[in-house]
Amino acid sequence: MTKTIPCPICKKPVALDNPEVPFCSARCRTIDLGKWASGDYKISSPILDPDLLEDLEHAEQQSNPTKEWKN
Ligand SMILES: [Zn+2]
Repeated sequence: MTKTIPCPICKKPVALDNPEVPFCSARCRTIDLGKWASGDYKISSPILDPDLLEDLEHAEQQSNPTKEWKN
């Protein structure tokens, strides 16, 4: 049996061989990134830097090149 850890976002068990570990899914990974970005940048600037948003999107695409995204 594969060892699991709780997803930091939704607390679902995540297998350690999951490519998204420690998150259960790419969605939770993005939620975490969004929290980090908005929490960090809200303090100094009310508007998110568009370059940062682009970086986040690119990082997400690169880490999940074969997955389709649906909201
Ligand atoms: Zn999760």
